[in-house]
Amino acid sequence: MATNKKPNNWKKRTLAVRAGTMRTPFQETSEALFLTSGYAYEAPEEAEARFKGEIGGYQYSRFGNPTVSMFEERMAALEGAEVGRATATGMAAVSSVLLAGLKTGDHVVAARAMFGSCLHVVEQILPRFGITHTLVDGSDVGAWEKAMKPETRMLFLETPSNPTLSIVDLKGVSKIADKHGALVVVDNAFATPALQRPIEFGAHIVVHSTTKFIDGQGRALGGMILCDKKFLDDHLQTFLRNTGPSISPFNAWLHLKSLETLDLRMRAHCESAAKVSDFLAGHRKVTRVLYPFRPDHPQHNLARAQMEGGGGVVAFEVEGGKKAAFKLGNALGLIDVSNNLGDAKSLITHPETTTHQKLTPEARAALGVTSGLLRLSVGLEDADDICSDLDQALKVA
Ligand SMILES: *Cc1c(COP(=O)(O)O)cnc(C)c1O
Repeated sequence: MATNKKPNNWKKRTLAVRAGTMRTPFQETSEALFLTSGYAYEAPEEAEARFKGEIGGYQYSRFGNPTVSMFEERMAALEGAEVGRATATGMAAVSSVLLAGLKTGDHVVAARAMFGSCLHVVEQILPRFGITHTLVDGSDVGAWEKAMKPETRMLFLETPSNPTLSIVDLKGVSKIADKHGALVVVDNAFATPALQRPIEFGAHIVVHSTTKFIDGQGRALGGMILCDKKFLDDHLQTFLRNTGPSISPFNAWLHLKSLETLDLRMRAHCESAAKVSDFLAGHRKVTRVLYPFRPDHPQHNLARAQMEGGGGVVAFEVEGGKKAAFKLGNALGLIDVSNNLGDAKSLITHPETTTHQKLTPEARAALGVTSGLLRLSVGLEDADDICSDLDQALKVA
């Protein structure tokens, strides 16, 4: 197979279309989908050499697959990482990084505002292996510093966070980690590399749920780990090969092709989300709007410093708590009630009763998840239609 030469001066939009492309002798323009579990060898000698690592080539799709490799290379190029490894889901990426990189006696510091399943891994699964943790208010750099212990190995965070879109200072937290010889792991699902590249700010590992904006059309699950060669060689490679959280080549192909339009889609999501957040902020039944690029966002300047756009998610609070939030949900005609996000279709969820239902009322309060809070993933429909739908539903709420 011929590999696409990648000049290192290509810009992000070009990388998203071209990086990592490999062509078969048929010289197809669109990336090929290799739906195969195994690979044949010319001779047993070749099989032996590949297993010994003396020659390159694929052995088995749990270890690697050409379509998956193209997706990994393109994502690594976009995030500015040395290597990428695709996984079946975002959670497979998160749990693999934590379980591969940590051992008994290690300590993790994590931002309290975390995707629910990530919190479960940190709070419920890691302690079973003797890995302790401290949860902090991610937006407070001093809190990260204070939580550090001699045995702290990883700092885990999401920015912007789910669902209140709080921002973590990537440079500040990375500096603290470096001083202590720990690794910063960033869940970049909300921003995508089109809007934010955590490695540029000093982060060491980036994880993705490619299920979200990278797929962009709500079709398939996927995940990605971006890191340096050292973490791959020392921790990740053997773990992934033997535990098997591999992505289906078909899903990898969907997400690889989705990257071609990522930049265009993210621009459109950002433009519409900005418009929708301004509309909501002007509505008398809306008591609070959270959108990273609005000047009234508490970390607006930080958001502008590390992101190229405010993202596709808006959080807002309606007057009248859960009752009003449910009335609004029932009255929507265009926007779907769904806990997914990053779809071409606008989706709304009530975090208190869905994504954050398992948290204690105190934990929800600490995150700012109130009864009237709604999280809206602004899709690619016309922003005027999205605003009209919200407007008529708010009249009922
Ligand atoms: C969805 C999501 C995940 C989990 O990804 P899956 O692909 O559903 O496993 C992790 N982190 C964030 C921020 C997410 O939005």
